[in-house]
Amino acid sequence: MKSIQDIFPLLQTPKKIWITTHYKPDGDAIGSILALSLYLRKLGHTVTTVSPCDIPDFLGWLPEISTVYNYEAESSKVLALLQEADLIFGLDFNAFHRTKHLDKALATAKGIKVLIDHHLEPAPVWEYGVSDPNKSSTCEMVYDFINLHGGNAQIDTDIAACLYTGLMTDTGSFRFPATTASSHLMVADLQQKGLIHSPIHEAIYDSWSPARMRFLGYILLEKMELYPDMHTGIICISKKDIKQFQVNTGDMEGLVNYPLSIQNIKFSVLITEQTDEIKLSFRSKGNFDVSHIARTYFQGGGHFNAAGGRSSESFEKTIAYFKKILPDIHPGSITLQTD
Ligand code: 5GP
Ligand code: MN
Repeated sequence: MKSIQDIFPLLQTPKKIWITTHYKPDGDAIGSILALSLYLRKLGHTVTTVSPCDIPDFLGWLPEISTVYNYEAESSKVLALLQEADLIFGLDFNAFHRTKHLDKALATAKGIKVLIDHHLEPAPVWEYGVSDPNKSSTCEMVYDFINLHGGNAQIDTDIAACLYTGLMTDTGSFRFPATTASSHLMVADLQQKGLIHSPIHEAIYDSWSPARMRFLGYILLEKMELYPDMHTGIICISKKDIKQFQVNTGDMEGLVNYPLSIQNIKFSVLITEQTDEIKLSFRSKGNFDVSHIARTYFQGGGHFNAAGGRSSESFEKTIAYFKKILPDIHPGSITLQTD
């Protein structure tokens, strides 16, 4: 993969640019594709911004969100624009299959492929780009990209709001270890450019439906299992639970973090029964690599402290399998210490 600066000459004349992110996009995914799109449009490029599926409601207030195509709703239009693109940007994901249904179309598209991402192990499909797992968020990397391109003065309050959203959500509001001095310097710069941060926190974190709040209460009381000896917390949510409380997948966001707020729990797993597969989310505190577990046992991957995977077995069998391997993989297990 050639360095990201090498595309700068290509950006000197107006181009057709097509930008996407991962399936089930989060704040960093949508914040980063929108910020980059707004910046490139300011420079005179024609930009198509694509989410592989619908965008969660808590991001519905983002500036220019209505310009983002939902691939599942407008696939033929999105594919036609992809065929015409000179440059294709992938943000906040590292391999085409992470877009789910866009996998094949991306693989065969003719445009030059450019990556900006902070997940481990990018697939060898990108011609240009930057991949840095030490970065807090893709939004911080888009900010770096704009600066490197000499465009700092182009950052307006709309771009600032998008960049802040991804940085804030991916750092757990500036608490995760990947939050660095450069993350805080970025916020200082955005504030000097007119960013007002409090309404963003409110729009994202204080906008729950009553059903979601009661669902959280139910899950923590009835569904969270703790294994203190193995420093592990497990939450399993069935289709029946989801139906009973009438919550959607966006309402599950963040549930996996709760066990980590308990003393001595260092590893947390959320197993959810979805319509087509079983999804697993892994989180950890400190020096325990969950991306390794996601990759080795659950066809997934991710970051050191936050990863995801899936199982095509039944909900019950997946839970049983996880509990079977837990004694060998938990933080502090002998296998891992000698690994
Ligand atoms: P989540 O639990 O929120 O779905 O995922 C946690 C983190 O792991 C996210 O940063 C997400 O991008 C990453 N992740 C989830 N599933 C996969 C996967 O199948 N492959 C890879 N490489 N990363 C994943
Ligand atoms: Mn991210």
